[in-house]
Amino acid sequence: MKVIVIGAGILGASVTYQLAKRGCDVTVIEKGIPGGAASAASFAWLNSNNKQPQHYHNLNAASINEWAIIARELRSSAWLRREGNVHVASGEAETKTLEERVDRLHSWGYAAVKMAPSELPRLDPMIRVRDGYSLAAFFPGEGFITVPLLIHDLLNAAKSMGALLLEGTGVAELIGDGGRVTGVALEDGRRIAGDLVVVAAGAGIGPLMATQGVSVNTEGKLGVTVTTSPGASGLTTMLHLPGISIRPDTGGRLVVRSPESDTHIDPDNWTLPDAEVRRLLEVAASGVTDIDPERVRGERICIAVRPYPIDGLPVVGAWDGIDGLYVMTMHSGVTQGAIVGRLAAEEITTENPSDLLAPFRPKRVIDTNKDSSFDPHAIEGESAPVSS
Ligand SMILES: Cc1cc2nc3c(=O)[nH]c(=O)nc-3n(C[C@H](O)[C@H](O)[C@H](O)COP(=O)(O)OP(=O)(O)OC[C@H]3O[C@@H](n4cnc5c(N)ncnc54)[C@H](O)[C@@H]3O)c2cc1C
Repeated sequence: MKVIVIGAGILGASVTYQLAKRGCDVTVIEKGIPGGAASAASFAWLNSNNKQPQHYHNLNAASINEWAIIARELRSSAWLRREGNVHVASGEAETKTLEERVDRLHSWGYAAVKMAPSELPRLDPMIRVRDGYSLAAFFPGEGFITVPLLIHDLLNAAKSMGALLLEGTGVAELIGDGGRVTGVALEDGRRIAGDLVVVAAGAGIGPLMATQGVSVNTEGKLGVTVTTSPGASGLTTMLHLPGISIRPDTGGRLVVRSPESDTHIDPDNWTLPDAEVRRLLEVAASGVTDIDPERVRGERICIAVRPYPIDGLPVVGAWDGIDGLYVMTMHSGVTQGAIVGRLAAEEITTENPSDLLAPFRPKRVIDTNKDSSFDPHAIEGESAPVSS
């Protein structure tokens, strides 16, 4: 079976690897650099911390374990870190929300423990316990992924099984007659035929589907992460403090994220003002003992359009009404990429639909009217930004 995958972000890389493993003749086409779009800017938190309803939680929780299986298959695990995640609440409302979340996750069999904030330094001595912290929770199965490393390893493994990567040229058009897609036309004029085209183009899904006369109900929102200079901190645990998320990165760097920062992105130039970077680092320093705000600086500012299907749930499956077309897009793609890649490849090669993917079929995002009904920050357990 000849399959064309459009996009080499985490979803495209994952499904390419799984299809190659099942003997498909796969060509993956990436208009930029593999892993250079949303996947590069991701905070990359592996979690099912606030994913509802329960079938959505189950998909995310299963995917965390699936990444560990892939690490064994690839014989590489440098990209996978699962030392756990700490959440801290401050004030009555946040405390109640965190308590309810821990209780719900516990009842669903997901590892979650409430703690007194004063116990946090026993978990990680770099955590500074501040006045006003009212409750902490530890999620020992969570962690993060170094995404560029993972995408590199997935694509290398796929190539070693015969997959072909074409990078630096985009797909301009899906070729078909409205009833069946038979291949793609590239921006450089080449045409490639295939039995199936998988659209894993992140925020690029809209223009591609438009070439088949379909409008897709997804939104793209700019999001930002800041990576510090090396040697910033010895923090080992991932931390969600009020208003800010912090995690370790290579060389003693930290990756820092706040939804508030997203509102300061200049949408025309894709830049973040220096003052906002400084604010982030100062807030981080107030929650981590060994950050010296005078010395640490923002080394890398990553800004990307984050794909959001309109109801907040993933979109995975064959496109109703157009044969030969399969789509995958979602907002927590780093967490879900492992399970979605495997299940998609299984249903593509066996034609047996996956029960786990059944609630997430594409039909519901065929555009009727654009009315977003979910809060993207809530689903990632982030505090909503103050302004917008
Ligand atoms: C700031 C931020 C924080 C995030 N935090 C988390 C988190 O903590 N946990 C989590 O699980 N997720 C998080 N996410 C979301 C996650 O990163 C995305 O869901 C995931 O990266 C999406 O992967 P993708 O492969 O669908 O898209 P992308 O990574 O965007 O990849 C799509 C690829 O398709 C290519 N492409 C597009 N159009 C074409 C075309 N016409 N032809 C060829 N190639 C094309 C693009 O160049 C791109 O490389 C975050 C995202 C952001 C931006």
